[in-house]
Amino acid sequence: MLSVPHVLAGAALGSFVGDVPGAPMVGFAIGWASHYVLDHVPHWERLYKPFQEIDWDTHRPAKEWPRHILVQAAIDVLLAGFILYAIATNTSEASWWRTDQIFWGAVGGLVPDLLGNVPFWNRTLRKIPGFKQEYAFHSLVHVTSQIQNSVPRLTGLATQVAVIAASLWILIR
Ligand SMILES: [Zn+2]
Repeated sequence: MLSVPHVLAGAALGSFVGDVPGAPMVGFAIGWASHYVLDHVPHWERLYKPFQEIDWDTHRPAKEWPRHILVQAAIDVLLAGFILYAIATNTSEASWWRTDQIFWGAVGGLVPDLLGNVPFWNRTLRKIPGFKQEYAFHSLVHVTSQIQNSVPRLTGLATQVAVIAASLWILIR
C-alpha cells in the first residue's frame, strides 16, 4: 500500500491506545502490525493507473520506474512526511515524542516499508539477520500480483481510499 494509508491507519489505531504504561511503544507496535494486515489486502502500489508488473526492487528508481509511478511515489512520501509533521505539531506537550501514541502509531505503520522498500538501503538491510526475516515475512503476507489481478480492477484503489477515509474519520471526529 502507499505510505499515506499506512501512516494514517497507524495513527488512527494509536489513537485507541489509552493512558497505559508505555503507550507510545504500544501504539508503535500496533501501527507496525497494521502494516502487514493492510499489505495483505488487495491494493495498487499507487492511486493512479492500475496494478501491473513493475520492478520495484531497483537502486535506480529515477531511471527505471515509469514517470507517473515516480511522481506518485514522491507525492506519497512527501504527504506521509507532512502527516507525521502535522501530528507531531498538533500537541501542546513539549515531550510529545515520548508521550504521543498517535505519532508512534503512524511511525510504526511505515516501518516495514522503511526497512524493506527504500531503494537506498533495502538490499543492504535484507542481508542482516533480523531484517532478513522481517523482509521475508513482509513479502509473505503481501498480497500477490496474482490475487491483485484476479479481483475487480478498481478494488486496489477502493481499499486504499477506504483506509484513508476511515482513518481520517477516526482521527478527526
Ligand atoms: Zn508494505
